[in-house]
Amino acid sequence: MRCNLGLVMPALCAGVVIVWALPGFGADGSAAPAKIGVLIIDGQNNHKWSATTPAIKVMLEKTGRFTVDVATTPGRKAPAEAWVKFRPEFGKYGAIFLNYYGKSWPAEVNESFERYVRGGGGVVFYHAAAASFPAWKEFNLMMGMGWRKASQGMRLTVDDKGREVRTPAGEGPGSGHGPRYPFEVVVRDSEHPVTRGLPTKFMHVADELWQGLRGPLKGMHILATAFADKKFRGTGTNEPLVWTVPYGKGRVFVTVLGHDVAAATAPTSAVFIARGLEWSACGKVTLPVPKELVGGSK
Ligand code: ZN
Repeated sequence: MRCNLGLVMPALCAGVVIVWALPGFGADGSAAPAKIGVLIIDGQNNHKWSATTPAIKVMLEKTGRFTVDVATTPGRKAPAEAWVKFRPEFGKYGAIFLNYYGKSWPAEVNESFERYVRGGGGVVFYHAAAASFPAWKEFNLMMGMGWRKASQGMRLTVDDKGREVRTPAGEGPGSGHGPRYPFEVVVRDSEHPVTRGLPTKFMHVADELWQGLRGPLKGMHILATAFADKKFRGTGTNEPLVWTVPYGKGRVFVTVLGHDVAAATAPTSAVFIARGLEWSACGKVTLPVPKELVGGSK
């Protein structure tokens, strides 16, 4: 099993200890596992990225599994020359965490990002990141689907028997959400490393329940859905909220949960962010199920 740890990528995921990269050893003398380098990208959003990024960074660092850097783009009104400095070194990291919704990156950065993922890099799309860059073809392929108009791709839902339903582009609703409310998350694959050990159903805190997402859907593997209740302007069907997509040798993980700090860092969302990052970097998960979710919760 290969694991991208960042500075030392690729390194073996298990059984290898890079002593110089570690703050120390466990109290019992055993070596701690090497940490995974994560790069959060933010800087523009229609959400409070300056609040969610530090909260997610702290949450990730507390797990002991990650070191986290942040790359902040120029602002929406910044002059073109400000973007010259935005050249993230994706290859230094085991996984990239996208907390960005805004202007296009320079073409050179897009190409570098595509090369990184195609070559085996990990990526987590978080919430509004899945609304970014509608015109970037490879980004859409990586993501599988996201916040788009009905004309911009196929729709994927799950019926009440658990079967996937595909709706052609232009038919049915485009993307949206109703008011925030607490809803039940349903795990659709309990064998995946990210969801293994989670209850099959659990209540999430008040959050946006995204619906009508669209895209090429290529390679999409749904891990969790929620029922978008018509009482809350929902579509009346099961909408995918967490999924994976293979892209070249890379692993892409998408979670559209986590509108604000409270929703993003609630155990029912944080579990997907942290385990999704570990899986995207390593292909396996060592982080435990949060105690709030052990034994099931409703
Ligand atoms: Zn939101």
